[in-house]
Amino acid sequence: MLPVDFVDMMQQQLGAQAPQLFHALEQEPVTSIRLNDKIDELSFNADIDEVPWHYEGYYLSERPQFTLDPLFHAGCYYVQEASSMLIQCALEQYVAEDSLALDLCAAPGGKATLISQYLGAQGLLVANEVVRQRVFILSENIQKWGNGNTVVTHNTPALFGEAMPNAFDCILVDAPCSGEGMFRKDEQAVADWSMRAVRQCVERQRSILYDAWDALKPGGILIYSTCTFNRHEDEENAMWIAEELGADILPLSLDPAWGIVESIAGYHCYPHLVRGEGFYLCVLRKRRHDFDPFRIKHAKKPNSTPITAENKELVRSWLSEPDKWALRQLDRFITAYPIKYKELIDYMSTRFLCISLGFGLAEERGKHFAPQHSLSMSKAARIDAFPQLEVNLESALAYLRTESLPLSNLPLGLLLVTYHGVPLGFVKNVGSRCNNLYPNEWRIRNL
Ligand code: SAM
Repeated sequence: MLPVDFVDMMQQQLGAQAPQLFHALEQEPVTSIRLNDKIDELSFNADIDEVPWHYEGYYLSERPQFTLDPLFHAGCYYVQEASSMLIQCALEQYVAEDSLALDLCAAPGGKATLISQYLGAQGLLVANEVVRQRVFILSENIQKWGNGNTVVTHNTPALFGEAMPNAFDCILVDAPCSGEGMFRKDEQAVADWSMRAVRQCVERQRSILYDAWDALKPGGILIYSTCTFNRHEDEENAMWIAEELGADILPLSLDPAWGIVESIAGYHCYPHLVRGEGFYLCVLRKRRHDFDPFRIKHAKKPNSTPITAENKELVRSWLSEPDKWALRQLDRFITAYPIKYKELIDYMSTRFLCISLGFGLAEERGKHFAPQHSLSMSKAARIDAFPQLEVNLESALAYLRTESLPLSNLPLGLLLVTYHGVPLGFVKNVGSRCNNLYPNEWRIRNL
């Protein structure tokens, strides 16, 4: 049952089209995924259609049990709501690939992995999540995606304005919202909805935007999005940004056949007009004015432990292009992050609570270094650096449940477990048994 106030509000907002929206909200939600370039092809037993606005987005005619697909766990695709992939059009039209981008409200990471993929090796993404319980799933999804061009942070929006003024070429604020666009996916969103909750969301959204605004470069792009329909959280906020913070609302060039509705400020995906859930997006450019470009001042030296030449040579041999990565050891762990952004990432690691920088490369085990799990997820890994153990579906699922695998005539030591040629993680063959090194906190339970 839709809340009465919501029905009234949408009737005012959409007029004669409102009943079509209400009808669409009673239908089954759409399932869609976005493919990673770790694999070339999909292998689902469902009909597949392309998402028109994202070249790697696909609709599935039915929802498979993703948990049972090892390629899901290997980061070969992200189960992402189709409408939200519209961010891609904003990036393509206004954001250069060598940008420094901030995804301020990033968990669980659908848009962060999309931005990371768009930027590729040229740019850097900072993916931030302020809510502690959500930052680990963000970090897991970023590691599984495997690009290495992302720093995951756990800070308040205000710290970005304070510690990195005028730094970012692009900021995405995918704001916490009243979630009207998720009503058919999430019953709790319906139960929690009220006009009071909408007003609270507006206040929170403005406070997030206000706090982070100084971090955006003049001339830089703000992408403001919500998964809600109401004007208070959408158009009124976009206009507030334009007028109060100082920005120009930018048009997007979208194919009219897609069914996306342009409003007085921004664009709506309505589930009665597009194959996807509700989504709102507005692209703004911060007005240009004289400013001091961001410079790192008074940088503290980041903590690190020297890496011996021998260990450095070993861990570099696990990377296909080792010169592209800066290495840093902290306690028992060596992390690799893009050398192009070394100074900036070093600075960030002294000012922000960084959950990960790039990807975890190696871990000290006794007298030796062993690869970390996130190396197996990383596209920077040289996978032929390790003997491989290709497994079938049954063994892949056993591996992902952290069970031990049958061994036959395999070399002793570390083996990279692969499924359809895609790395799932490591095992250590100690002869009598095989130690499963899949991260315990990621293991598949209840299967
Ligand atoms: N961008 C994410 C994605 O594509 O997977 C979804 C983000 S969700 C709509 C909004 C996020 O904002 C949530 O992860 C939530 O924890 C976070 N959030 C909640 N309150 C916040 C605040 N006051 N400041 C910043 N982020 C907040």
